[in-house]
Amino acid sequence: MEEQQYSGSRGSGKESAPAWSLDPELRQILVCPACKGDLQDRHRGLACLPCGLLYPVVDGIPWMIEEEAESLTP
Ligand SMILES: [Zn+2]
Repeated sequence: MEEQQYSGSRGSGKESAPAWSLDPELRQILVCPACKGDLQDRHRGLACLPCGLLYPVVDGIPWMIEEEAESLTP
């Protein structure tokens, strides 16, 4: 049984908790395919700030494809 840690107020503007999970070893080796830089965990996927791209993680599979990446909104 899982218990959420939320205190009841939703939508406070923070998207710190990713909605996905990856094998830690896989997560460790993932880099941005465009600039080979580090990626940040975001709610919907992995973000590369220098490129301004968000690589979505779908069903535990990271889509590390530039053409499939979304633009990061500032
Ligand atoms: Zn990049």
